Amino acid sequence: MQSSVKPFRLGSQWRTASDGDAVISSINPADGSVAGVVARATPRDVDEAVAIAWDAFRNKPWRKLRPDQRASILYEISRRLKIERESLARLQMLDSGKPWKECLNMVDSASGHFRYYAAVCETWQNEMTSPRGEYFSMALAEPFGVIAAITPWNSPIMNEAQKAAPALAAGNAVLLKPSEETPQLALELVRICMEAGLPEGLLTALPGYGEDVGAALVSHPGVRMVSFTGGTETGRLIARTAGERLIPVGLELGGKSPHIVFEDADLERAVAGVVSGIFGSAGQSCVAGSRLFVQKSIYGRFMKELVTRSQAVRVGLPDDPNTQMGPLVSRTHRDKVAGYVDIARSEGGKVLVGGYAPDEGPLARGWFYMPTVIEGLDNKARAVREEIFGPVLVALPFEDEDDVIAQANDTPYGLAAGMWTANYARAWRVAREIEAGSVWINTYKQSHIATPFGGFKESGIGREKGLHGLRLYTQVKSLYWGMHEKPMEL
Ligand code: NAD
Repeated sequence: MQSSVKPFRLGSQWRTASDGDAVISSINPADGSVAGVVARATPRDVDEAVAIAWDAFRNKPWRKLRPDQRASILYEISRRLKIERESLARLQMLDSGKPWKECLNMVDSASGHFRYYAAVCETWQNEMTSPRGEYFSMALAEPFGVIAAITPWNSPIMNEAQKAAPALAAGNAVLLKPSEETPQLALELVRICMEAGLPEGLLTALPGYGEDVGAALVSHPGVRMVSFTGGTETGRLIARTAGERLIPVGLELGGKSPHIVFEDADLERAVAGVVSGIFGSAGQSCVAGSRLFVQKSIYGRFMKELVTRSQAVRVGLPDDPNTQMGPLVSRTHRDKVAGYVDIARSEGGKVLVGGYAPDEGPLARGWFYMPTVIEGLDNKARAVREEIFGPVLVALPFEDEDDVIAQANDTPYGLAAGMWTANYARAWRVAREIEAGSVWINTYKQSHIATPFGGFKESGIGREKGLHGLRLYTQVKSLYWGMHEKPMEL
């Protein structure tokens, strides 16, 4: 087994396993087999990685390259990700259990992020500000130096690229800590970046556990900024340490997004949108539309159709091209999701469809859970308030606009929301009242690189993607150039 352990790279050295035989085994969620074994980083490796990253930031040709030169390396990374699309998607499928098509989309998104931020890097304009005296004044976006990027397991390679591409474009050196559940893609990303010409030490992946390697990165005096995607409680811990250290954080956290169907909606499209909004990625999506609000006048009709469509979702092995929904990431996570359905039952919820893990045939070997719809709970129930992060939808009726705005906002989260209505004036009104970072109108879960993404309330701080995504990794420096005709007066 040890010979097949994938090492990680620290500067010019390969680290097979720094702490005795410490490794992380990635388990294939579809059948419980070992998908890969990687060397496990330790807090001692963090010290070394930080020193290497600072050396690369200060001394390697990156920060001081012309933006077009930096951009050409980022373009090359994007191109190589495309070339390796299929093999990366296969690895992703083994690590995360996501269906094949979704894995291809993740790699395309990673490639797209490097292409987009190459363009941003090359076209970025610092600001000339209007002077109030005999000088020119300008504001420059400067890198922080060494930043840490910590990612979850639900979208490997895409999440890593979403952070690494803008942070590198801005001139930083990046220390990447992928989730211990899906450690393999970050190592591949580093390899591809180096093969594309990124100088050594500018991007290092440290596969390790959150409580040791993740925490060591956040508290390390050499780390000047932390970009984190993951659960809200972990985000709170990280923000606490960052607060003590007075370093900035970008936090992309959990959600419990409301998905609203008004009585004038195109019901066929709305049902399809609700089904894909919750059961896509087996509900393991921060923006999953997990709280459904349906106007009372159409509630019965809508729910009947929703149950039929939910029963028809094709749950299957990730490599089957017909599969629409694959397994959950781990047995522990599947048990957590099943536990929430039990809680919902004990709170008086009625399970209309699903509510069990398949225990026969090939699916019994993996961590599958059937698409589940629950009704009969109110907004105070735990299954309605807490993020389940699985294929579980809770449905609640509402009276009118005011009622649904109040219910939708009655949550600590504020990541996303969706609504279906034929009335665009209403859509505008409701969209402005909903406390969420993204609102979809007559569509759901659309996302692209050029549009900012992030959360309100406990769903996060800061925005990724778009130009905001580059700003997150920069600090502003103002310059004044004196143009005095005469010596300055006291
Ligand atoms: P998690 O918070 O358990 O872990 C995320 C990462 O943080 C992992 O790499 C983990 O090792 C690390 N970590 C854990 N404890 C740490 C600590 N004390 N210090 C530093 N790092 C630590 O989340 P998860 O289970 O991997 O992912 C699921 C969560 O991520 C969900 O809540 C989901 O909503 C959220 N998420 C949010 C977004 C978004 O953009 N808002 C996107 C994807 C996932």
